Amino acid sequence: MARGEIGSALVDLTDEQRAIIETVRDFVDREVIPVADELEHRDEYPEKIVEQMKELGLFGLTAPEEYGGAGLDLLTYALVGVELSRGWMSLSGIMNTHFMGIYLLKKYGTDAQKERWLPRMATGELRAALSMSEPGAGSDVQAIQTRAVRDSDAYVVNGSKMWVTNGLRAGLVTLLVKTDPTADPPHKGMSVLMVEKEPEATTFEGITIPPNIEKMGYHGVETTELVFADHRVPAENLLGEEGAGFRYIMDGIEVGRVNVAARAVGLATRAFEEAIRYAQERTAFGKPIAQHQMIQEKLAEMGTKLEAARLMLLQAAKKKSAGERSDLEAGMAKYFCTEACHEIVTDALRVHGGYGYSTEYTIERLYRDAPFLLIGEGTSEIQKLVISRQLLERYRA
Ligand SMILES: Cc1cc2nc3c(=O)[nH]c(=O)nc-3n(C[C@H](O)[C@H](O)[C@H](O)COP(=O)(O)OP(=O)(O)OC[C@H]3O[C@@H](n4cnc5c(N)ncnc54)[C@H](O)[C@@H]3O)c2cc1C
Repeated sequence: MARGEIGSALVDLTDEQRAIIETVRDFVDREVIPVADELEHRDEYPEKIVEQMKELGLFGLTAPEEYGGAGLDLLTYALVGVELSRGWMSLSGIMNTHFMGIYLLKKYGTDAQKERWLPRMATGELRAALSMSEPGAGSDVQAIQTRAVRDSDAYVVNGSKMWVTNGLRAGLVTLLVKTDPTADPPHKGMSVLMVEKEPEATTFEGITIPPNIEKMGYHGVETTELVFADHRVPAENLLGEEGAGFRYIMDGIEVGRVNVAARAVGLATRAFEEAIRYAQERTAFGKPIAQHQMIQEKLAEMGTKLEAARLMLLQAAKKKSAGERSDLEAGMAKYFCTEACHEIVTDALRVHGGYGYSTEYTIERLYRDAPFLLIGEGTSEIQKLVISRQLLERYRA
């Protein structure tokens, strides 16, 4: 299973897609892998790497060509996500909410909104966060409390958002709010506002950003709260229709779920590579540990799970790329790939023995990064609810 042969039997990549993926892989080998452990331990934002990603055009991968992007599909984005996460998962985190913003603007934005934001998003000059979760509402998205009240030509926003990836550095936030708290069902009273703010400012016209949330892993990229107190958003920044925000976000979240599945495949690929190399170098009882059957069993299980995860990812990415409804496939890929990644990373740590517990070895970082994937863009439990709902509909008795 050569690296880069991801599901090659199942998917015909164009020459352009292959060239992009190879370019990103070389970039990751050359510029990311040598520094990722150190930056992660220091919880340092990878400024230089982000600049290089801009130069490579990665932020505009899926933005339409007429707005300066590369106009590529979500499959290409997913495969790029795998390569970046093989180097450092946080890089994919810097991109994911940005891509969800581009996806939603492309699909539901007005021409004026596209002209205003997409060209700068395509270059990476303007980067986007996406904020729906709150201190009291994560899985139960309809329970959010952040309120937007129409006041002549603006919406006045009040409330607190939680867990906003890229919350500080983003200049644009795709924000889920309640515009009608009396709506029944509640999702009919939810809308999306595109909120402009000053990147890196901790206070901005009624928006306050407290210090970054400290995390177990997923370092380098910031995760913040966003507190809104009478912040005015021009009414023209409403995305699509008032009351349709929940539907838009659920559509966008399928993009996010494909991305998280891609991150899991990238992280698991790296863990597998680290384990299989270590197993051939480390000796115990007079031979490389790779010659002990119980290590071989682990490698076989890891390799098989990894290949299965790659195939699940490809299926979901292809379906979403084709514009088809993909909640089942995206949910299955997110669930399977992230659980497989968690198991592969845990086994890779065991293969490293005591050294796996040392910060000198990359596996220690991967071990701390993997659990986030079980939670972000909907927990495994929520994926199972989505999957079973779809299956029961399809196999209705
Ligand atoms: C590092 C990080 C970055 C994040 N970035 C973002 C971001 O950029 N934007 C954003 O909007 N959000 C973001 N999130 C939030 C993330 O999406 C939520 O944490 C996630 O959806 C879970 O919500 P919760 O934390 O409120 O858990 P809860 O919803 O409180 O869930 C707690 C537990 O209960 C389980 N549970 C809940 N409901 C059910 C049910 N019906 N049946 C069975 N089990 C259930 C859950 O699976 C979980 O095990 C981020 C989170 C983290 C940790």
